[in-house]
Amino acid sequence: MDTKNKGFNTKLVHAGAYEEHFGSVVTPIYQTSTFAFKNARHGADCFAGKSDGYIYTRIGNPTVKAFEDAMAELEHGFGGIATSSGMSAVSSVYMALLGQGKHIVCSASVYGPSRGILERDFSRFGVEMTFIDTSDLEQIKNAIKENTTVLYIETPTNPTMQITDIEKASEIAHKHGVTVVVDNTFSSPYLQNPLVLGADAVLHSITKYINGHADVVGGVIVTKEEELFKKIKASMVYLGGNMDPHQAFLTHRGLKTLSIRMEKAEENAMKVAEFLENHPKVDWVLYPGLKSHPQHELAKKQMKGFSSMISFGLKGGIEAGITVMDNVHLAALAVSLGGVETLIQHPASMTHAGMSKEAREKAGITDGLVRFSVGIENAEDIIEDLKQAMDKI
Ligand SMILES: *Cc1c(COP(=O)(O)O)cnc(C)c1O
Repeated sequence: MDTKNKGFNTKLVHAGAYEEHFGSVVTPIYQTSTFAFKNARHGADCFAGKSDGYIYTRIGNPTVKAFEDAMAELEHGFGGIATSSGMSAVSSVYMALLGQGKHIVCSASVYGPSRGILERDFSRFGVEMTFIDTSDLEQIKNAIKENTTVLYIETPTNPTMQITDIEKASEIAHKHGVTVVVDNTFSSPYLQNPLVLGADAVLHSITKYINGHADVVGGVIVTKEEELFKKIKASMVYLGGNMDPHQAFLTHRGLKTLSIRMEKAEENAMKVAEFLENHPKVDWVLYPGLKSHPQHELAKKQMKGFSSMISFGLKGGIEAGITVMDNVHLAALAVSLGGVETLIQHPASMTHAGMSKEAREKAGITDGLVRFSVGIENAEDIIEDLKQAMDKI
C-alpha cells in the first residue's frame, strides 16, 4: 500500500512494503543468511546494483528492509539502515564520517558509550573531539573548526534533559559544511523529526520507544540524502553491524503501536512529574512538559509532545536514592527506557558509580538524581508505588 500521503498512524501500521506471498498480512521473517541468484547474469546484476535482488543478509534482507523503509518514511528521509544495536548505529555513523585529522563536536551529556567510543577508540585513530553543551548555540559556533566534519546532537539529553534547537544548530553547522547527526531515541519520530528541522541524519536505539517492549536490542539510521545513505550503509556493512531478520520482525511489530504507547506514557509522565514537583522530599524535577523546565518553550516548538522520561532530585542524596530503589515494587529497577513497563534507575549508585563524585556533579548527575522511564500502566499505580517508596526515606 502506498502510504506516502497518509497520516502518521496509517504509516506506522502500513509503511514498509515487501513482496507478499500467500497474502501474508505481516512481513514474514526471511530467516536466511544468503539468497540464491536465478543465474550468473542475475548474480552479476545484483552485485552491480542493477537489480534490487538480495545477496546476503549482512548487506540486506526483505524483513529488515520493510522495517528500514517504514523508518525512512516516518523520519522523512531517503533511506533507513537498521543495525544490531543503537551503538552499532552510532559507530557506523562515526566510522563513515570521521577519520585521521577530522574533528567532531558532540553534546557533552550524550548517551555514555556514544561519547565513550570517541574518547576510547576514535581518539586512537587521530580523531579530534570537543564536548560542549549543544543547547547553548554560542558554544556550537565557538567549537566548530576548519577540520570539523560532524555535529552530533542528542536532544533531550540523558539524564539531564537539556534540549538543543535542531533547526538553529543545523543552520550554524551547515554554514561550515558540517554534517548534522541527531540521536532521536528519547523522542521517536512520533514527537520529533530532526531531518525536517534541518539535520542530515537521524539515529535511534530502537531498543527504547520504537520497539517499546523491552525484548529487542537494535538501532536504525535514516539519512536525508542518497549520498550520505550510501556512505553510512557501506560502513555498516563492512563493520558487520546489521540487524537480524528476527529482530526486525519484532521491532516492526512494536513500531505499529508507537503512537498509542507514547500518548499513554506521556499522559502518565505528566501526572507523575506533577506529583513529584509537589512532593516535599523532592528537590527538583526535570521534565520537558513542565513549565519549570528551562527549555519548555523550545520543547513545545520542536517536539509534538514531551515523551515519558523524567529526572528528579531527592533530598537526602545517595542514601535517599538507594532507599527508593529498594522499596519500589511496580517500577523495575533497571537501565534502558521507553518500554511499556515503568523503569527506575539511580545513576550515582548504578550506571555512573564508576565516575568520581566530582565528575558526576560536573555532568549534572547529582547523588540524589533518579531517572524514571514512565510506562503505560495506570498512572495512579505508578504514583502510589513512588509515594510509598519515598515515605521510607
Ligand atoms: C540506549 C541508547 C543508545 C544505545 O543503544 P543500544 O541499543 O543500547 O545499543 C544510544 N542513545 C541513546 C539516547 C540511548 O538511550
